[in-house]
Amino acid sequence: MNDFLLHKANLIMQLRSQSITDKSILSAVEKVPREKFVPESLRQHAYENASLPIAGNQTISQPYVVARMTQELAMKQSDRVLEIGTGSGYQTAILSFLARRIYTVERIRPLLVSAENQLKALKISNVLFRHADGHLGWPEAAPFEKIIVTCQIKNIPETLKAQLKDGGILVAPVGEAGKEILLKVTRNGDQFKMEELMAVRFVPMVAGTAS
Ligand code: SAH
Repeated sequence: MNDFLLHKANLIMQLRSQSITDKSILSAVEKVPREKFVPESLRQHAYENASLPIAGNQTISQPYVVARMTQELAMKQSDRVLEIGTGSGYQTAILSFLARRIYTVERIRPLLVSAENQLKALKISNVLFRHADGHLGWPEAAPFEKIIVTCQIKNIPETLKAQLKDGGILVAPVGEAGKEILLKVTRNGDQFKMEELMAVRFVPMVAGTAS
């Protein structure tokens, strides 16, 4: 067994002990080579349960947070998912195994291009990529059964709430920078039920795009 496989098996055991019980999520973590989504110099740390720096001063999320957000979304294979903040594309790859189609939006073009190349190399073909400001969502493809925001926002933009299907679930780190809480929002008609899950740390959502 190579080192990565051993480290990956350890990570999966940790996730299980942290109440990630959904087998399809654990199996997705097993399938996605996280070492391909981190800078070459940090590869030996790829299976630590930690966030790591990536290009553009951004971060790849901690595996537990990726798995927890995914579990809270209660994924169904028929789902169409909007993801704001593609970053490395790791969370995107995990979601791609659990849903019909992923629509992912990133404001920093080189990150989007690199994520797209990684997913192509892994033969993942149910993801659509867009270089845009995530505040806009993806109106032509709305409504979505699930929405995941992977950057810190002060409030959930109304445009994103409007793009959530009735009965759909949105998860996002919401609050002042450094004090954000992972929120789970469930839509019931015009009502949006909010549940606070846990304190998290994310890079901020920034308006506009960067090339
Ligand atoms: N899930 C990703 C997390 C990446 S960090 C991963 O695990 O790799 C969050 C990402 O959100 C960054 O890449 C950042 O550029 C992006 N982001 C910030 N503001 C944004 C916006 N307005 N629209 C789209 N993406 C945004």
